[in-house]
Amino acid sequence: MSQTPLKLFNSLTRQLEEFQPVHPGEARVYSCGPTVYNYPHIGNMRAYVFADVLGRTLSFKGYKLTHVINITDVGHLTDDADAGEDKMEKMAAERAQSIWDIARHYTEAYWADVKALNIRQPAKWTIATEFVPAMIDFAKSIADKHCYELDSGLYFDVSTVADYGRLARAVTEEGEGRIDEVEGKRNAADFAIWRKTPAGEKRQMEWDSPWGKGAPGWHLECSVMSGQVLGFPFDIHTGGIDHREIHHPNEIAQNQAFCCTNGLNVPANSGANVWMHNNFLVERSGKMSKSSGEFLRLQLLIDKGYHPLAYRMMCLQAHYRSELEFSWEGLQAALVRLKRMVMAVATLRGQGEPAPEAGERFSAYLERFGAAVADDLNTAVGLTVLEEVVALKKVDAGQKLAAIAAMDSVLGLGLLALDRTDLRLRPKAATITEAEIEAVLTERKDARAAKDFATSDRLRDELAAQGVEVMDGDPLGWDWKLGE
Ligand code: AMP
Ligand code: ZN
Repeated sequence: MSQTPLKLFNSLTRQLEEFQPVHPGEARVYSCGPTVYNYPHIGNMRAYVFADVLGRTLSFKGYKLTHVINITDVGHLTDDADAGEDKMEKMAAERAQSIWDIARHYTEAYWADVKALNIRQPAKWTIATEFVPAMIDFAKSIADKHCYELDSGLYFDVSTVADYGRLARAVTEEGEGRIDEVEGKRNAADFAIWRKTPAGEKRQMEWDSPWGKGAPGWHLECSVMSGQVLGFPFDIHTGGIDHREIHHPNEIAQNQAFCCTNGLNVPANSGANVWMHNNFLVERSGKMSKSSGEFLRLQLLIDKGYHPLAYRMMCLQAHYRSELEFSWEGLQAALVRLKRMVMAVATLRGQGEPAPEAGERFSAYLERFGAAVADDLNTAVGLTVLEEVVALKKVDAGQKLAAIAAMDSVLGLGLLALDRTDLRLRPKAATITEAEIEAVLTERKDARAAKDFATSDRLRDELAAQGVEVMDGDPLGWDWKLGE
C-alpha cells in the first residue's frame, strides 16, 4: 500500500493538511445529503461521487471508515434565508400529495442514482425526521445562552460565539451570503434553529416544542445528526461549495455553542476537524436548474444511451475543487475512455482470476497511484497511472488484475464487473433491436467481402436512418452505436 500520507484541503484553514484522525485508525465522515423534494440533478450527484471517493480513499489508506449521509426530509427552505417556504411543504402543496409520499419517492430516486454511480452505501443514512426529539434537546441545551425567541421562531445569536463565519470568510473575505431581514433579529446573520408554525396555519410536518408547534431549522438538523451518530469532534464534514457560505458556518456556530455549553473539549469547537467542499458542475444552457423541463438527471443520460459510470468517469477526470463543465461531448469522451479500460480488463479477466496480491512488478505503480489520491484526491492523475498499468505488456495477468482492482477500489468504475456490452445502452427513443442491427451488419460484411460496395453503403444508410451509426475501422472495435 502507498506510504504517502493523506493530505486534504481544509476549507476552514484554507490549506492542505495531513489527515490526523481523532480516533487512531478510524475516519468518521459526515456528508450533507439531499433535500428530497425533487429528483437530484447530476450536479448534486457530483457531491456524492466526491464524498464516495473520499471514503474509498480513506479505506484504501487503511482507515476504518464510518460514513454518514443524511436525508433532509424537512426544514430546508426555498433558499438559504430564514423566511419563505419549506421546499418539501411547497412541493407537497403543488402536487397535492402527502409530504411523506414525496419524501419517500425522491429518497428512493436518489438511492437509485447512488447505486447506478457505484457510490458505496454509507454506514448510516440519517433521516432528519427521525431525529426531531434529539434536535429539540440540542436546541434546549443552547437556548439560554445562545438563542432568543421571536414570533416566527427560535433564533441563534451569532454574536454569542467566537469568530462566526470564518469558514465563509475563507472564501469571500466579506462573508457575503444571502441573509434576509426578519424583524427583531439582533444580527443580520442570526438564523432560525426552530421555525414556528404561523398562528392559524397547519403544516404537514410539525412537532411540539418548548417554542410552540413547528419544525427544526435545516442547519440544526445537520449539527444534530452528525454529532449524535459520529460524536463531536469527528473527522471530516463534506458538502458542495454553496454550503461554505451559510449552511456550514451556521452548523459550526451551533456546534461551538453546544460543545461549550456541554463541556465538550473539542478542538476549535467546530464539530469537525476538516471541512471539505466540492466545486460545482456547471452547464451553460440552464438545464441544471430543476425548474427547467428537461433538467439533467442521471436518468436523462441513461435514456440517451450513456452508461451512468461514464458520468462517474467524467467527475473523476476533474479535480473535485475545480468547476466542471458538463457537455454531451465531454460525456461521450468519458464513455470512450471507460470503454477502453473495460475492454482491456475484460480481456484480462478472460485469462484468469485476479491474484491475491499485485506483486513486486506493480508496487511502483501502486505507490504512484496512492500518492496521487493522497494528494487531495487527485483522481485525474490516478486515472493515468491506472491506464499505464492497463497498457503493460508481458506481465502476469492475475497480478495485473489485482493491481487494477486495488486502484478501482478507490475509483469505483466497476472495472472487474463490467463488460463492453454493459456499456452499450439503448437510448429510450430507439426502436430497432440489437438482433436486427447485428443481422444487417452481417449482411453488410458479406457485401463488403464480395466488394459489393453499393449494397454495403445502402445497408449503412438504412441503419443510419434508424439511428445506428456504423463505425468502420473504430480502433476500439465498437462496430456500431445507437445514437439519439
Ligand atoms: P441539495 O439537495 O440542494 O441540498 O444539494 C445536495 C448537494 O449537492 C449539496 O452538497 C450541494 O452543495 C450540492 N450541489 C448543488 N448543486 C451542485 C452542482 N451544480 N454541482 C455540484 N454540487 C452541487
Ligand atoms: Zn447539512
